[in-house]
Amino acid sequence: MLDFGKNIFPEMLELGLLLRGYNSPEYIKDVGTPERIDKVCVDLVSGRVDMARLDHEQMAVFLDRDGTINKEVRHLNSPEQFEILPGVGDAIRRLNHANYRVCIVTNQPVIARGECSVETLRQIHNKMETLLGHEGAYVDRIIYCPHHPDRGFEGEISDLKCECCCRKPGTGMIDSVVAEFNIARSSSWLVGDSSSDILAAKRAGLHSILVETGYAGLDEKYLVTPDYNFADLPRAVNFIIEGHPRLMESLEPLAANLKAGEMVFIGGQSRSGKSMIASALRDLLRSQGINSVVLSTDRWLRGESKRSDGVLGRHDDDHLRDAIAKIDTRNGTLSLNINAYRKLKREQIVDAEHLRIESDDVVIVEGVIALYVSGAASRPHRFYVSIDEEERRQRVLREYLLRGWSETEATAIYENRLIDEVPWVNASASSAVNLSVVDHKVIIERNHDYK
Ligand SMILES: [Zn+2]
Repeated sequence: MLDFGKNIFPEMLELGLLLRGYNSPEYIKDVGTPERIDKVCVDLVSGRVDMARLDHEQMAVFLDRDGTINKEVRHLNSPEQFEILPGVGDAIRRLNHANYRVCIVTNQPVIARGECSVETLRQIHNKMETLLGHEGAYVDRIIYCPHHPDRGFEGEISDLKCECCCRKPGTGMIDSVVAEFNIARSSSWLVGDSSSDILAAKRAGLHSILVETGYAGLDEKYLVTPDYNFADLPRAVNFIIEGHPRLMESLEPLAANLKAGEMVFIGGQSRSGKSMIASALRDLLRSQGINSVVLSTDRWLRGESKRSDGVLGRHDDDHLRDAIAKIDTRNGTLSLNINAYRKLKREQIVDAEHLRIESDDVVIVEGVIALYVSGAASRPHRFYVSIDEEERRQRVLREYLLRGWSETEATAIYENRLIDEVPWVNASASSAVNLSVVDHKVIIERNHDYK
């Protein structure tokens, strides 16, 4: 019996033959025992071996590193500081088993700033891969951007001080992996904790998930809305593997009733899951060849200094209604400037984003005032989303705690809204089709129009 590593390769080298190697991401397994051969036979029959061939399009999950995989410590520069977050190893292992390519794309300006050498970074990544390996997980690629645009740090490496296209929100790192692995962008994801991750995903044509570990998106460096939000990577991975397909399937009856160019209104209490449903509906429509645009009514929230009491006192509903009127009467391509809202500073940014809406795009308006601004109850696609109140309370509290409010302040906000917002929003439920979300499945509760 001959072994490649012990017999054949050494002999070839002895004979002076040339040995070449490459790092292949395709299917490779050691089949040295009968049990292992059995496992590989199962993979062969199930098509797993074939699917791993790069001439088939691959699905991928791109992961940010700091704040997503490991604890955010600001400018991590030694292996000792690297601490993996709970459940991350198991989550990555599940992605491996679900045939997702797992690629880490991370900005490491500490290299350009001279705070961490390439060799130390390698040690940090070795530690990460070892820790993941202990849990049976692996990553297919680790790509980092060593650059940084701003000069003026003591000990910096001036060659790396430049504007590059790899630093997120640039898409250079993602694009190189997409090319190498033949990745289908439309069935791939990026999970990260900062606005630059979400913008990179958007520019690269990937589904985006913002996690609440690390910066939790509150860096607010870029005004961009994630497709989905989850508390941490394990929950994001559950959603990618099971939740998202289930959610899309449960929305099929809704999508079946929609025609190109129509408007959909999704209302309900704050933190009830409206934006998740809107994003999933958009994904489902896209898979059916229908383009859609999601507008969150949060974009029309007034800045803190311009607010008065009540839901409408917090919203600039007149301008939102103007926008809806323009969308309703569009004839060809509509150019629309829309606002943005910074949660942390509680400020509104007027005309922050420019939107092009084609005449056959479906427009999905979601938010606490969506049903109110939809106007006539005769509109066919009006939905009211509800969830268990205790769960909603937890979500509201968590949102404000994340923004740095105290428990008392967060509770006060929740209780105040129970008086000045909840009944007002509730009143809109009776004129809409009621939806509830249980375990990432939409249940159509009053489905007289939606069979
Ligand atoms: Zn770079």
